[in-house]
Amino acid sequence: MSAIPSVTQLDLDGDRVLLRVDYNVPMEGGKITDDTRIQATLPTIRYLREKRCRIVIASHMGRPKGKRDQKLSLEPAAARLAELLDTEIVFSHDSVGEEVELLAHDLQAGGIMVLENLRFNMGETNGDVEFAKALARLGAVYVTDAFGAMHRGDTSVSVVPGLMEQAVAGLLVAAEVSALTQITESPERPYVAILGGAKVSDKIGVIESLARRCDTLLIGGAMANTFLKAQDINVGTSKVEDDKLLLARRTLERCAERNVKVLLPVDFVVSDRFAADAVPGVVRSIPDGKMSLDIGPETVKLFAAEIAAAGTVFWNGPMGVFEWEHFAQGTRGIAEAVADAKGYTVVGGGDSAAAVQKFGLADKVRHVSTGGGASLEFIEGLELPGIKALKPLRRG
Ligand code: AMP
Repeated sequence: MSAIPSVTQLDLDGDRVLLRVDYNVPMEGGKITDDTRIQATLPTIRYLREKRCRIVIASHMGRPKGKRDQKLSLEPAAARLAELLDTEIVFSHDSVGEEVELLAHDLQAGGIMVLENLRFNMGETNGDVEFAKALARLGAVYVTDAFGAMHRGDTSVSVVPGLMEQAVAGLLVAAEVSALTQITESPERPYVAILGGAKVSDKIGVIESLARRCDTLLIGGAMANTFLKAQDINVGTSKVEDDKLLLARRTLERCAERNVKVLLPVDFVVSDRFAADAVPGVVRSIPDGKMSLDIGPETVKLFAAEIAAAGTVFWNGPMGVFEWEHFAQGTRGIAEAVADAKGYTVVGGGDSAAAVQKFGLADKVRHVSTGGGASLEFIEGLELPGIKALKPLRRG
């Protein structure tokens, strides 16, 4: 894939910029519980301010389906951004319209306005051209740092860029694309991929793609149960996808044909019920009536040895129910192994990114992607609509 057009390649001075970000941050009781996605856009915003740009920031949040819903307002995100930048920010209660255009027009050099949740307007999800045009009127240059939304066809992601003079990647998206391109196109070997999480069905595309590219596949989480059962290994009452057994069997065969080493858990933390306060126990094989809720310590050792020897590591999906302390040790162990690894390490968004944050290890990973679905689709080799929509640089 050729390099994507980036904001650093533009000759900016006081330009009007529409910056699409992904401020779809987790909230509880009106408070932001994790502002990683806001922090991740600061380098681009600071860069644009240095170039005296007037910046209109647009994002979606949740799925309000075209209706105003105060719980999904971007006002708290705008307030957090103002705090982080230690500056005043204009908040617009609409995302399009005459009033918004006037506010955008009044911005001073380096000034910032944050628009209300784009998805309060149906136009954001139904590709409405009028909505796209109204957004495009808010700036001349389109910059995107919305990596977490780039695999979606939202209007502001896939239509608006085409209507603007320039449409380029911000620093975050450029860094995401560079890290993910490196591990997809020219990984240092051995390339070890670690996959976990709940469902094989969600990740079959990426498993297939990784089976073509990596040297070793480490499988944990509930996903491992489906692969174990596919080999007639007892998984007790563990979460398993019975309709995916054939698919799992075929994937294992394909890996064997390609000499990709596949390692599955050799021990488990089991319990008799799915609950935070369930009593954990470590076993070598899952007995009838018990369910596996985490990988065991021997598996952590086995996986950690592969990770330590890797030239490249890609990790997506927790190894167990890491949200519950009793069943978080496997995910913690793998997070530590990835943090200690000498190779090039990438954690692909979603729950695994939340896990490295939770264990305070995010700084020790070379690249923690801000996009779960987007990073997986990129690794899968799919063209993301948000990248496809960017424009080659117009010189002169
Ligand atoms: P995913 O969105 O597919 O990455 O799945 C993440 C979810 O998988 C997390 O909420 C975990 O709690 C859950 N999970 C991981 N391992 C297990 C397991 N062994 N049994 C049940 N759920 C699991």
